[in-house]
Amino acid sequence: MSEAITSVLEENRSFEPPAGHQGYIPSLAAYEALKARFSDDFDGTWGDLAGQHLLWREPFTRVLNREKAPFFHWFEGGMLNVSENCLDRHVAAGLGKRTAIVWEGEAGQVRRISYTELLADVCRAANAMRELGIKAGDRVVIYMPMIPEAAVAMLACSRIGAIHSVVFGAFSSLALRDRIEDAGARLVITADGGSRRGAVYALKPNVDEALSEGCHTVRHVLLVRHGGNEVPTVPGRDIDWHQALNVQPAECEPLAVESEHPLFILYTSGSTGKPKGILHTTAGYLLWSRLTMCWSFDFNPAEDLFWCTADIGWITGHTYSVYGPLCCGGTTLMYEGVPTWPDAGRIWKICEDHAVSIFYTAPTAIRALIKAGDEWPAKYDLSSLRVLGTVGEPINPEAWMWYYRVIGKEKLPIVDTWWQTETGGHMIAPLPFATPTKPGSATLPLPGIDAAVVDEFGHTVIGDGGLLVLRQPWPSMLRGIWGDEKRYVDTYWRKFGSRYYFAGDGARIDEDGYFWIMGRVDDVLNVSGHRLGTMEIESALVSHHQVAEAAVVGRPDELKGEGICAFVVLKGEFTEGLAAALRAHVVSQIGAIARPDDIRFANSLPKTRSGKIMRRLLRDIAAGREITDDISTLEDQTVIEQLQQRV
Ligand code: ATP
Ligand code: MG
Repeated sequence: MSEAITSVLEENRSFEPPAGHQGYIPSLAAYEALKARFSDDFDGTWGDLAGQHLLWREPFTRVLNREKAPFFHWFEGGMLNVSENCLDRHVAAGLGKRTAIVWEGEAGQVRRISYTELLADVCRAANAMRELGIKAGDRVVIYMPMIPEAAVAMLACSRIGAIHSVVFGAFSSLALRDRIEDAGARLVITADGGSRRGAVYALKPNVDEALSEGCHTVRHVLLVRHGGNEVPTVPGRDIDWHQALNVQPAECEPLAVESEHPLFILYTSGSTGKPKGILHTTAGYLLWSRLTMCWSFDFNPAEDLFWCTADIGWITGHTYSVYGPLCCGGTTLMYEGVPTWPDAGRIWKICEDHAVSIFYTAPTAIRALIKAGDEWPAKYDLSSLRVLGTVGEPINPEAWMWYYRVIGKEKLPIVDTWWQTETGGHMIAPLPFATPTKPGSATLPLPGIDAAVVDEFGHTVIGDGGLLVLRQPWPSMLRGIWGDEKRYVDTYWRKFGSRYYFAGDGARIDEDGYFWIMGRVDDVLNVSGHRLGTMEIESALVSHHQVAEAAVVGRPDELKGEGICAFVVLKGEFTEGLAAALRAHVVSQIGAIARPDDIRFANSLPKTRSGKIMRRLLRDIAAGREITDDISTLEDQTVIEQLQQRV
């Protein structure tokens, strides 16, 4: 059977990069030149970049060791420390007074932490952790709201060689327990509570609950007082963060570790099943965090205020709220709270108040902002913005256009970044001041990244869609799945041996070499012998003026193999005859083959905690099957009932 995916989307709009600014990579010619350097001397080019961009205690002696592929080793022989790269070297360069983190709380309180202050805090936290017996290689679970202490905890782990594993603060005690046990953590760092929709939610009780069973490796809990809520503590086990830090000296010698020393374990969102503990290591990850800040965001640490809205519980928060901006010596903004609190203008208010210049968010947030209405961004001065990014899901061309038109005023580059927890940083993304963009396309692979679309035999697919693969290793690639070598090999390296990394996404390359991500291979529909990606049909639905968001899944159909079931969220009220109108719209946009058999309306779609549509759950609903997914974390439980109703 062919793995080709039929492409049905017609998107011809294209936009030149803004003129008048010299970007970090200033032109397509410069991009081509850098790519050519990689083709001429792959290892040498990576080696040069690693030498220039990172501070080494011991230089590496070998750039890339492929002998044990798919277990690749980068920058062998090198020794370095991540927190030293993110803090000490900037302070040593005279930038100690520069703001490292701007934090805003939901109630509007603001904290600014300079590099000097952040370094002192990180040293104190590292000393406190050492005093609790934490050594290099030990695992530390961080379960916290979006507060600066979370970043301090991450950097403090890296300072002493401990491996952090951040668990998203909205996860349940059960999810937390699973991850603590899988990682074999010795220490949990948490907070009493955090802010959400004007109230304080308690976090610490979840930790107590998680630790009430199993979790035998955990010795201590460090507790940050932040929410002001009363929480029980366990004497001997629980230790107050501020008290512990206050008695520590503000200096702590950073531990130089090997390039391949583990930096963190991060569990994937779990959109496609049991979460995987993705392992990232020191040098390669850090190098790519910094390079992609420069290349894809044109980040200028002296001038930019960078805001990535992702929670640090996700890879995006790791790479682009913490390590990337700090490794560059720039300023990162952290916001703790609901982005639509107290109203749908909050994000734009924060952009205005802090003069955010680079803004990075997810399609799910963009679609929610579209639904809220153009009047919200119109109220604020967004003139400080200069680059707009997106990540997490394919962005529908119409959502892209809204971002470009309403937020970017048709002047700012839209940087659609395709990547995964596993890739550590961006893989396919435009260079904001060099690459012409097309709505819905992540454009071109970054220099050094060898992305391709192939069939199941590994042959390049032209015209149609196929499987997205990476044909060369890259420095920030995952090094494994924690405790499960076999799953690592099976998931990513079985299909094409250890030649190609299999990403699990479908994609198409157009005549200009641009990549169009078509959704996950597992979600591809099979309609009358055509394999159709979900993204293109969803985008056709979203291009209808009444539709805010859409998800498309297959359901068994005797005649066609699979029928198309669409779940739709409207911008306004339901109108009579809308289902028929939407069917006709899809047919006119992309043809009869994509005509939805069943259209259902709801106030929202079921999403994972990272904001991705839960298509597996929707497949069960569409087929009238019993629901097997855990839906306890859904924000709106009534949505399931709505989706089960046919119109
Ligand atoms: P799991 O692997 O456990 O199912 P997940 O894949 O949702 O979880 P992440 O690593 O957070 O976890 O997400 C990566 C995936 O998100 C990509 O494989 C892709 O499907 C999607 N994605 C991310 N960015 C983009 C983008 N810019 N365009 C299209 N898809 C994207
Ligand atoms: Mg994935």
